[in-house]
Amino acid sequence: MQKSAFRAAVAAVAFLAFAAPAAHAKGADTRIAEADLAAHIRTLSNDAFEGRAPGTEGEDRTIAYIVGEWAKAGLEAVPGSATPWLQPVPLVESEALGGTAKFKVRGRDAKLEEDGIIVSGRDASVSLEDLPALFVGYGVDAAGRPNADVRGKLAIMLMDTPPFGEAQPRYRERRQMLADAGATGVLVVATDAVPWTQLRDALGGKTVRLGGDAGAGPQVSGFMSLEAADALFTRAGLDGAALREAARAADYRGVVLPVTADIETRTAVRSFASHNVVARLPGANPDGKAVLFLGHWDHLGICRPDDDADRICNGAVDNASGIAVLIEVAKRLAAGARPDRDIYFLATTAEEKGLLGARWFADHPVVPLGDITVALNLDTVAIAPRGTPVATIGRGKPAYDALVSKVAARLGRTIDDDGEADAFAQRQDGWALGAKGVTALMVGGSFSDMGLLEAFLGSDYHRPADEFSDKIPLGGAAEDADLHVALGRAFADRKRWPGE
Ligand SMILES: [Zn+2]
Repeated sequence: MQKSAFRAAVAAVAFLAFAAPAAHAKGADTRIAEADLAAHIRTLSNDAFEGRAPGTEGEDRTIAYIVGEWAKAGLEAVPGSATPWLQPVPLVESEALGGTAKFKVRGRDAKLEEDGIIVSGRDASVSLEDLPALFVGYGVDAAGRPNADVRGKLAIMLMDTPPFGEAQPRYRERRQMLADAGATGVLVVATDAVPWTQLRDALGGKTVRLGGDAGAGPQVSGFMSLEAADALFTRAGLDGAALREAARAADYRGVVLPVTADIETRTAVRSFASHNVVARLPGANPDGKAVLFLGHWDHLGICRPDDDADRICNGAVDNASGIAVLIEVAKRLAAGARPDRDIYFLATTAEEKGLLGARWFADHPVVPLGDITVALNLDTVAIAPRGTPVATIGRGKPAYDALVSKVAARLGRTIDDDGEADAFAQRQDGWALGAKGVTALMVGGSFSDMGLLEAFLGSDYHRPADEFSDKIPLGGAAEDADLHVALGRAFADRKRWPGE
């Protein structure tokens, strides 16, 4: 009820905005000020938005705000959409209610420490007996294809990114690939980069995946600590360290273990819809190519137990800041001289759940992915002060790097090309588009000064303390916003950018 009434309200806001379009000022783009960004961040990270969790009233408020601002700016809904401004994203939330995994080695019980393994089911109730197990290393070969015959089996797979091949998929994608290849279960062996207790707490609660036509994963999935996995290998007469070493080879084919598993799970499964917000600025002289700006609107929502004083993770920096930039960039691009090419604006949902909104868009694009000449993601931009050099996640394509450098230089920015920013490549929405062949860049100062970024990640990040205050550094964000106006103009200009 509430939601459909709300959708009608969104349409009404959009209609009114079109009835009175913003005045068009020609000439140079006005600079984006810290105060412009602060106003949006203050609103989006207000407690009334409840931390912007997908599928909540906080979502309704968030997407209404973004649609309202983009409509006021002069963007339009993508023509032909059955749900103007919004792209529904089907999500499935699973909460493990109980689960056990018992192993046998050569038919004999092999008991493991119970707190070293977590299992959850795809469906409400799963009961599997004598599931044969195999160790698949990273689960893929150098070409990114499943590396072993996993049909009807329990695949034990390493979490870390494969140390071979380019742009290898993350463990979630690899788990789905093994499921698509017929694996009944996939157990992910935790990396020693993340403490097991932290991982177990994070995974023990609710998990969210894409629904609809997206792959639903294996019947059972779970995680093992490195110690639990090694204990199982030892029981099986194998050496865990040696197995992991062998798995580093790009042509590793896995090893069948003399192990079977009995797995039972009970899971609360709930399907719901969330939404990407999608808008378009029609080009003045289109050539079929398009520029895409994106940033995630979602955050963690209510993230602390009932008795905590502050229970809301407001996500002011992560990523109300990026959405604030997207709103102001849209205003400048729509108000100034109209660019040649169409420019799309996408505010994604469920980034925090694993880039889910971006993945859904990549699988159901409103503009053919091959027509997107560049995607520019904005995430966690309020980190650095003015004067911070410009780093780019996704550097390495000379023509793109040259244009970014030129545009940045014209604004008096210097370039940071040490490549450190790429450590975050997989942790942002651009990755989901890059995996489908789109050139996706994240450009700006926030990923240049690693000291400042690490300081944020080690303190307020993903905590209730990531909330609006005058202390949030917005100088760098304002500069990055101006940079994105200029980048939008450059990449959408048929003379300046041939549209690779
Ligand atoms: Zn985040």
